[in-house]
Amino acid sequence: LVSRKKKADDTIVELKGEQVGNGKPQFIFGPCAVESYEQVAAVAKQVQAKGLKLLRGGAYKPRTSPYDFQGLGLEGLQILKRVADEYDMAVISEIVNPAHIEEAVDYIDVIQIGARNMQNFELLKAAGQSNKPVLLKRGLAATIDEFINAAEYIMSQGNDQIILCERGIRTYEKATRNTLDISAVPILKQETHLPVMVDVTHSTGRRDLLLPTAKAALAIGADGVMAEVHPDPAVALSDSAQQMNFDQFDDFWGAVQSFLGAH
Ligand code: PEP
Ligand code: MN
Repeated sequence: LVSRKKKADDTIVELKGEQVGNGKPQFIFGPCAVESYEQVAAVAKQVQAKGLKLLRGGAYKPRTSPYDFQGLGLEGLQILKRVADEYDMAVISEIVNPAHIEEAVDYIDVIQIGARNMQNFELLKAAGQSNKPVLLKRGLAATIDEFINAAEYIMSQGNDQIILCERGIRTYEKATRNTLDISAVPILKQETHLPVMVDVTHSTGRRDLLLPTAKAALAIGADGVMAEVHPDPAVALSDSAQQMNFDQFDDFWGAVQSFLGAH
């Protein structure tokens, strides 16, 4: 169902009046994790000031260590909903448990399925049975074929509002947190009719690489870019090495705009 052979036209995902996949790049910014109402609202204000509507924030955090911050859970989703209503934005948040989907759809606009759950088939099916768009991230060591099949699981349940997200894969290289597989973008665009975004934060794990990889993503035809923004990354409860503070976000956005203007 996700194959280009089945449907030649690009699928466009609609989010509160914004379209992902219509040829104009979209951007998703927000903190790694929802930490408090004040923190999310501060980021939303900055993102909205750029005329942007898509806000991310993790409430259920899939952490490598059980002793690291696990997220605020339902309270985090409630915070996102409050901020979304106040700032008229669409919110994207990861859900890790199929049993949480039914409740989560009252609070969020896009269900994110994270890299670690790309082959959690019960979660994929539950997301496919919901009426919310799904942002599906590529698994840590998933081939493109496995990634496409994960999207097929969602669509097989009747939900065709899917955004694919390349977020880097595990290789032997240690200079970056993951290795951004930039050629996955045109391959996914050729093989499927779905929009493809690139998460520059988790693919690189390095703040200094956010801008160059975002430019690469846009140049190669990605439908959008995701990156993390936090009021004070140094004290962030997760991913403090790669989130942008507000000044860095301003610079990043300015550079992306000039890059897009020049192309
Ligand atoms: C995230 O986007 O919050 C996240 C945990 O990313 P990934 O699943 O790609 O590691
Ligand atoms: Mn993160």
